[in-house]
Amino acid sequence: MIVAKFGGSSLATADNFKAVTDIIREDAARKVIVCSAPGKRFTGDSKITDLLLYLAANYLTPRLRLKIQAEIEERFKAILKGLGLKISDLFSSDDYESYFQQDFSLLSPENRSDLLIPLGEVFSAATLAAYLSKQGYKAKFCDAGKLGLSVYWSEDAYHVHGDSLVKLRTHISKLLADHDLLVVPGFYGFDLQGCRRPLSRGGSDVTASWLAAATNSTCEIWSDVSGVYEADPNIIQEAWKIDYLSYAEMLAMARFGAQILHPEAIKPMLDAGQIMYVKNSFRPQDIGTEINSYNLAKRVAPLAVSLKHTSITTLLAINGEGIEERRDLAKKGVELLRTLDPKAQLIDEMKIPACLLFSISDEFALKAYKSLWYHFIELSGWTINADYDLELRQSQISLTDNFPDK
Ligand code: ASP
Repeated sequence: MIVAKFGGSSLATADNFKAVTDIIREDAARKVIVCSAPGKRFTGDSKITDLLLYLAANYLTPRLRLKIQAEIEERFKAILKGLGLKISDLFSSDDYESYFQQDFSLLSPENRSDLLIPLGEVFSAATLAAYLSKQGYKAKFCDAGKLGLSVYWSEDAYHVHGDSLVKLRTHISKLLADHDLLVVPGFYGFDLQGCRRPLSRGGSDVTASWLAAATNSTCEIWSDVSGVYEADPNIIQEAWKIDYLSYAEMLAMARFGAQILHPEAIKPMLDAGQIMYVKNSFRPQDIGTEINSYNLAKRVAPLAVSLKHTSITTLLAINGEGIEERRDLAKKGVELLRTLDPKAQLIDEMKIPACLLFSISDEFALKAYKSLWYHFIELSGWTINADYDLELRQSQISLTDNFPDK
């Protein structure tokens, strides 16, 4: 079975919903679908989640509230119109009221924003379920909290509780006995009191990963890029897409800047021993990136670079299985970065699997990032897009022994 998650860019317009329906139709194994809120339609557009955050922050200012509500409603209406649906096709009147028509002004600011922020996901999932039903599927909208996704608060965010696995497995298998497809809003779960609580930003990936782990399924993450790249392709256009990654590599990349996957989406899939794919809903024929737990531990070669700004410093990482053992590369990295910023450092105290981590002042970060990519990836001769063949890959590792000097 496949749990397929569609990100906001894949669900921004009615046409996007139609394309997603085609993708679902392509493979009967796709049975659980997780939706993000509609995202940006063009550069400069707003994501629905950002509008909802803005709405929550300004809820008690009537004119502003009405303005933001009107903007959100307009976006929703355009999608429904394009799909030939009405709001009554999506929800029973009780359900509609419980999601959208509470008196949010009576709530504390935290409760108000927690209830409002995931409503874009609720809309997307209910819309997709209604559209799939119209196409002849027995599709059911399933609230993630009611399915058993429970969350707890720790370190400034909600996280999924491990107990969810058993509840999710039971509920999903029961529902799939009577339905072809379950469509689930991402990005939130219920706390112990049964209140809706959002995960951190990008959390629909986390929802999908837990649902996939609970049902021993493959997890597909669909967005508008054809996989995971060696570096942010918006910054380094020459960066190649990577065909295969290990979970440790993906985790290191996600923790230190790669936006493509939420870092908390990785552990449930790793523990379940299942495979993830990152794919492009605008180019479904592209193979994307496969993330697995195969033993690539002997790769010991740089594979990607990542960049993350924090409030204290900017972090730069070189990623690749086993790379944390390569003292030679750590030394070369520091030497290279110090030609730009004499204060650049290797952060050595926490050995992070598949990662060499450096800090650098923000003003040099972009140049340093490009330079790391060029010296450690572009010049390395390491070819990441060979058909997957462990032996071939291991023989290629020797190429990196002749790693070029800067
Ligand atoms: N819509 C939410 C966000 O923009 C959650 C998600 O897409 O995963 O962060």
